[in-house]
Amino acid sequence: MINADTRLYVLFGYPVRHTFSPVMHNVAFRAIGLNSVYLPFEVEPEKIGDALKGIVALGIEGANLTIPHKERALVYMDKLSPEARLIGAVNTIVCRNKKLIGYNTDGAGFVASLKKDARLSPKGKNIFILGAGGAARAIAVELAKEGARRIALTDLVYRRAQNLALKVRQAFSDCTVRVSTLRKKEMTRNILDSDLLINATPIGMNKSDPLLVDEESLHPGLVVYDLIYNPRETKLLKCARVRKLKALNGLGMLLYQGAISFKLWTGRKAPVEVMRKALLKQINLKK
Ligand code: NAP
Repeated sequence: MINADTRLYVLFGYPVRHTFSPVMHNVAFRAIGLNSVYLPFEVEPEKIGDALKGIVALGIEGANLTIPHKERALVYMDKLSPEARLIGAVNTIVCRNKKLIGYNTDGAGFVASLKKDARLSPKGKNIFILGAGGAARAIAVELAKEGARRIALTDLVYRRAQNLALKVRQAFSDCTVRVSTLRKKEMTRNILDSDLLINATPIGMNKSDPLLVDEESLHPGLVVYDLIYNPRETKLLKCARVRKLKALNGLGMLLYQGAISFKLWTGRKAPVEVMRKALLKQINLKK
């Protein structure tokens, strides 16, 4: 029952209508009997500072940020986790003693899903990442932190991939970081030498989207992880499945980044299977 003791958690995004996070968190609060609610707010980019100050003013316990606020919010934080600082983006805020502490749980959520859903540890692995945008940044940092041997990156904007490579190299000298052009031959060479292929581009969301990699590069033993979860099976994942490879969509990343936020906010272990079920139901409804 909502009353004066109810704790409030919020999501700021623009737009925010597509989000699955409220379903996932509200079901989790209910499952472990917390008097808390999670509400999404559509916040215009230029209003993010006001909205963040509102967290403190209203006594909101915590927040998630999504596109386009993750980078802009940095300057409003009183404290940043080392990951958020390195990635240059915040997706989770904890408000404690009227101070905003910024975290980034995207990369850790991805790695948790990789370990739990794909049973793959990044330690000592060669990894190829398509895309060097926001999600790729979080993932590359976490994979390097977890001891990946080599990460190869590619992006439509070569410079973007170069900048990310530089950042990861500087922070994690044990990890070799390469930049690949988008030429299929070069990508294939890199993928054939990889244990894990990650699609961190939006290519695959539409039925008409092309396959970004050569099918022949999908070799036995390769694990394919597409960050897209709607549709549940992209063209890339279908090709991987047909070739009998382990193929995962982005639902696990969404789930575990949420579970890590939940723990940061409440101090309680998130009921992940309840959350997963709620997410799957919501995605099926939106089909
Ligand atoms: P983003 O910041 O826009 O990054 C995507 C990057 O991919 C951009 O640099 C983009 O370049 C590049 N790109 C586009 N087409 C490409 C191509 N054909 N080849 C190589 N690079 C290409 O987006 P994001 O926030 O990182 O999200 C990426 C994807 O991950 C989206 O589909 C998003 O929905 C998904 N995602 C999933 C989760 C999850 O929890 N499962 C979390 C975050 C994101 P341009 O900007 O020049 O187009």
